[in-house]
Amino acid sequence: MRPRRIDVPAETRAPTGETAAYLLGRLLVDPGGQSDRLDHAVREAGAAHVAVTHHHPDHVAAVAEYARRFDLTVWARAGRTDAFAAAAGIDPDRTFSPGSTLPVGDTTVAVLDTPGHAPEHVGFVCPAGVVSGDLAVAEGSVVVGAPGGDMRAYLSSLRRLHARDPERLFPAHGPVIEHPRSACERLLAHRLDRERRVLAAVRDGARDVEAVVDGAYEKDITGVRDLARATVVAHLEKLAVEGRVTWNGERAQPT
Ligand SMILES: [Zn+2]
Repeated sequence: MRPRRIDVPAETRAPTGETAAYLLGRLLVDPGGQSDRLDHAVREAGAAHVAVTHHHPDHVAAVAEYARRFDLTVWARAGRTDAFAAAAGIDPDRTFSPGSTLPVGDTTVAVLDTPGHAPEHVGFVCPAGVVSGDLAVAEGSVVVGAPGGDMRAYLSSLRRLHARDPERLFPAHGPVIEHPRSACERLLAHRLDRERRVLAAVRDGARDVEAVVDGAYEKDITGVRDLARATVVAHLEKLAVEGRVTWNGERAQPT
């Protein structure tokens, strides 16, 4: 069973301005917006359940609308139900945990813990691969920024996915990832490269976030400087946990 993908217009900073919603049997994943095509697909699939990979607006925006119109059972991650309700505007009916399986018709879908981009982030495992939300993209990278983003968790999610070696990844933005292992390797290398630059900037005397951003990014980041700042903070938090810098939320020092 290959998940059916319907790209919907969503409030996202992804360059396409769209989020891919998926239908896995009778489970609707990540309705980040409404469209007639998605209505049609939900009806055709006889969808009975809805869940999201994480709580960002471009993934939850139309959960409440689809749940009400199509009488879907709303699922949320156990322990995150309040955050889910605040983001989605609807209370969940049932909860899942990593390792759970969701009943979605003639097959079941397993829940995979993939935090980092967001603390509650999960993937949905089906025989054709993993519906992977914002864990990975075919080109470029995803945002792992403070607050909410956790670089250590993100890297370990990528490593676990690499070890799992799924058939394919079905991401929320951009094309299907046909070679998950090489995508994980590329994304890991990209993060570790940025981490080296962040560490070098601190060792070269950068103390606050702005100075570290200037030291760690060479390319023109006009328009995405806020994301670069958030990313740098996530790197500094990781480096501090590992004892390689000290970081008090405002100032970094080499150790
Ligand atoms: Zn996201």
